[in-house]
Amino acid sequence: MFISTILFILVSSDPSFEAPHPPNRVKEVRAAWNHSGTGAYPGDWERSCRVLEENGFTLILPNMVWGGIAHYPSKILPHSKTFRKYGDQIAQCLAATKRHGIEVHVWKVNYNLATAPKDFVEKMHKAGRTQRSVAGKPTNWLCPSHPENQRLERNVMLEVIREYPVAGIHFDYIRYPDREHCYCPGCRERFEADSGKKVARWPQDCYSGPRKEEYNAWRCRQTTQLVATVSREARKIRPGIKISAAVYGGYPQCRASVAQDWPEWIKSGYLDFVCPMDYTANDQSFQKLVENQLRLVGGRIPVYPGIGASATRPPLTPERVAEQIRLLQRLGARGFTLFELNLTTAETLLPGLSWTVRKFKDRAVP
Ligand SMILES: [Zn+2]
Repeated sequence: MFISTILFILVSSDPSFEAPHPPNRVKEVRAAWNHSGTGAYPGDWERSCRVLEENGFTLILPNMVWGGIAHYPSKILPHSKTFRKYGDQIAQCLAATKRHGIEVHVWKVNYNLATAPKDFVEKMHKAGRTQRSVAGKPTNWLCPSHPENQRLERNVMLEVIREYPVAGIHFDYIRYPDREHCYCPGCRERFEADSGKKVARWPQDCYSGPRKEEYNAWRCRQTTQLVATVSREARKIRPGIKISAAVYGGYPQCRASVAQDWPEWIKSGYLDFVCPMDYTANDQSFQKLVENQLRLVGGRIPVYPGIGASATRPPLTPERVAEQIRLLQRLGARGFTLFELNLTTAETLLPGLSWTVRKFKDRAVP
């Protein structure tokens, strides 16, 4: 009796004595976006990866390419100042993450030319490839319905997959800026051709008139088509590659406003995981968004909701972020995506989160 009690105490206090995970369960994914494409310490991806690993992160989404600029030696897009100063960011990121067991999914900003060189933007304007608002105002975004833009976006994303052994490619800004776009002359022409019917009063009929629904469905098809094409081609180039997207948290509102019908992409099998941007300091709003997203996805693919640590004003404290992580775990999400890894969050937030993340380090989720 005495010996068996001792044995019980010995065995039960041995940290290696744990029940194995059931075979149909996988480990939680703890991801972070990185907006700069350089990690938290420019020129030192090794240091960023060390911080990520030390604090329990398993996946990084570094923003390496925009609508008109690349942080790697692209043969298609102009090279960024970051590339000229620090060199090939995808190659450096991959080398460092390999040493620390972290997955890399390259984040592509679609259509948006905010960081593009002036002459590139000018060239796109002149070629009629940029967007116009319903009031006719030019906007520095590529028009999604322009066939040359569809090709450009696709070719750049496939270039990344062909050139680098990345685990995945990640869509962002895969949408229109708002409900006011795009009403460029090319959109009118292409919409009329696709629908086989002239627009009597352009753009009013499409914006708020009798063809409003039809026009919005057409806008949705433009973003959906890019996701479909890249997904199909990428999987041909590298079977097993993961396709993912950062999407608006509120659905169906985002379908009507920015023409982003992301549940449709999931039903069609184009995505392998999705990261809705649920940036709010209010836990009740956060929970509502996540519950709706999990219901829409219906377990088809994992959902890693985005936590707006540095996207909310003021930024969320480590305690607030930890609470949202715990909330996700209770709701049954299979992981989370932190916005975002930068110098401040690497130095202050991640170490503060470490306890929460570590506590669940080997936590299996359904
Ligand atoms: Zn257009």
